[in-house]
Amino acid sequence: MKQQDKFLLSDLNTLGREFADNSPEEILRWVWGSYGCNAVMSSSFQTQSVPLLHMISKVCPEMVIVFIDTGLHFPETLAFRDELQERFRLHLKVIRPEFGPGENDDQMYRDDPDRCCYIRKVRCMYTFLQDNEIGAWVTGIRRGQTPQRSNIAELQPRPDGILHIHPLARWTTAQVTEYINKHDLPVHPLFNKGYISIGCGPCTKPVAATDDERQGRWSWTNKTECGLLQPVHEHTESALNAKTT
Ligand code: SF4
Repeated sequence: MKQQDKFLLSDLNTLGREFADNSPEEILRWVWGSYGCNAVMSSSFQTQSVPLLHMISKVCPEMVIVFIDTGLHFPETLAFRDELQERFRLHLKVIRPEFGPGENDDQMYRDDPDRCCYIRKVRCMYTFLQDNEIGAWVTGIRRGQTPQRSNIAELQPRPDGILHIHPLARWTTAQVTEYINKHDLPVHPLFNKGYISIGCGPCTKPVAATDDERQGRWSWTNKTECGLLQPVHEHTESALNAKTT
């Protein structure tokens, strides 16, 4: 059930203000109680994904966790995903892109990373959301990760009717580390080699301790996001079409 069928925008504004003081677990309880199996979380299974995956395993273990297998992940990421699935008994759903003519090009990231992300990530995620009538989409993004994310709220209605929920929006990197240590949870196998934020192998480089955590992503461009957080038909698709016409 889409957010606009379930809540008025004014309800969401009120809830959003309340959620600014609520714990991530309380927010997850609300999501599951309100949307049930129409709510999913997407995860890239990196170190900073661990606290929220752990919370979901405690609060709403039936929630589907969507992993987009672009075909270009580090093998360590796939192994870490499987390790966490087994340890937390996650309800994992792996989705993969479908390619049209000429689209399955593993070098596309170099010259046109926006198109590559659209084909390998955004389009298949959006298809999954539509096919399964998903109304609430949980992510682990945080305001402190990049300047572009500095204004995200715990609840963010999307123009396409899906409600984004970011339970860790106000968490700092230190809180992520503290949670992992407190619960004795694992980190991604490449984390201690400088891969603080990890996406596809070709687009991720290790960073120094003093760098921003996402500085190693698409480091040869000014790209900062894969486009998943944008409404696909309003941004990514039109942007790509504009580039090719
Ligand atoms: Fe392509 Fe890189 Fe985006 Fe992965 S992160 S989909 S390789 S541009």
